[in-house]
Amino acid sequence: MSEPQAPKRYWIWTVGCQMNKVDSDRVAQTMKARGYLPAETEDQADIVVLNSCAVRESAERRVSGKLGNLVSARKEHPEKLLVLTGCSVSPDFEATRKRFKGADIYFQPTRLDQFTEQLDAIWPLPKDGVLECGTEQLEHTESSGPLAFVPISNGCDKFCTYCIVPYRRGRERSRPLFDIVDECGSLVKSGVKEITLLGQRVNAYGKDFKDGTDLADLLVRVNDIPELSRLRFLTSYPKDVSDKLIDAMAGLDKVCEHLHLPIQSGNDRVLESMRRGYTRADYLEIIGRLRARAPRLALSTDIIVGFPGESEEQFADTLSLLEDVHFSTVYAAEYSPRPGTLSARWEDSVAPEVKRERKQRLDVIQQRISMDQHASLKGQTVEVLFESTQSYRRDLEQWHGRTRQNRLVFVPRGEANLLGKVVPVRVEKVSPFAMQGAVA
Ligand code: SAH
Ligand code: SF4
Repeated sequence: MSEPQAPKRYWIWTVGCQMNKVDSDRVAQTMKARGYLPAETEDQADIVVLNSCAVRESAERRVSGKLGNLVSARKEHPEKLLVLTGCSVSPDFEATRKRFKGADIYFQPTRLDQFTEQLDAIWPLPKDGVLECGTEQLEHTESSGPLAFVPISNGCDKFCTYCIVPYRRGRERSRPLFDIVDECGSLVKSGVKEITLLGQRVNAYGKDFKDGTDLADLLVRVNDIPELSRLRFLTSYPKDVSDKLIDAMAGLDKVCEHLHLPIQSGNDRVLESMRRGYTRADYLEIIGRLRARAPRLALSTDIIVGFPGESEEQFADTLSLLEDVHFSTVYAAEYSPRPGTLSARWEDSVAPEVKRERKQRLDVIQQRISMDQHASLKGQTVEVLFESTQSYRRDLEQWHGRTRQNRLVFVPRGEANLLGKVVPVRVEKVSPFAMQGAVA
């Protein structure tokens, strides 16, 4: 009889959005189902999976750098397997292999079957024993702590001119409603208090069903789960904010007063060349309707600065939009051409230093706006769901959590265990990025 082998150890390195984190959880489940165990350090792993992001060039550079380091380090451990997944992996594996050299397995983020097929060929499953992971199991999200992120749709059909997502994640597909509600139910049973429903265009959920089921219907069902405290969804596309969705947001007690609604630019010509499908006035009309029904709503957004052809005047429209809307948070990115997208064929006309300078000016304005919003909460009591502890100074460990408006709050770590609890906190100190307080 042969010696039983030590279980393989895995390590997963993830960059990018929440969707990537969820995909990494699924890769972890696949490996656990094969009998592998998490490694304590990357060096001790027999298999390292890089889950990559290609949305911006800077993210992709980090991925190449990381893979390069692993490939060199592997010279001393030739048996170690390197796997690349995420949005850097295009359906054209040959092109991916040329661009990202040295991994043993490449698979697209939505195609775990490609992963297991290639893995089986290298490390076959023993015939006797290890439990096979069914695809239904892979739909499930692994949760840790009081927050869970649940994908409800995958892919995107919008094809904004700058965006790689539709090319890497494919057509929009929605998961069946009952499946999602079931999954949310089990997550809550296992202790989850806040659920964020995820999709690239989350509020287009159900458009592929043709029976009229939409995100509002799903919110109603998830909101009904007893013991769930909060419900959120990410990322919404402005034109798909329907009155039915606004009514659901305003009427459902667990749906939080926060909406992430990327605008990308405040100028109509730029929006048109991005093919966003709306104007500045359309966007303002949509948030007018939202705020009329949900006056406490905090809005956050994404903006791209230095899009091809963006003039100083056009950029100034984006700055004035920030003053008009008063977002709670703005995630600004310098434009980077993504090979394969339409805008990558156009001249990347805004110089890097101009992009950088525009982003800085934008950040300064937004920091002032966020600071004003936080300052107006000073002395008030806000409701915080605590997520974890964090020490940003060696001597000071703090709990951190978020308000329903998604504002970050810290309180000193005392005796009480606040994890997963919704607790009133009196705001004492504020910065543009967070608030500091004490349990009220
Ligand atoms: N589905 C979401 C966004 C997905 S990508 C939406 O429709 O808004 C996340 C963010 O990355 C985008 O909102 C955009 O601001 C940024 N982004 C995407 N492609 C980019 C590019 N080529 N250069 C710079 N930023 C980009
Ligand atoms: Fe990309 Fe546009 Fe789809 Fe968002 S809506 S994922 S920016 S193509």
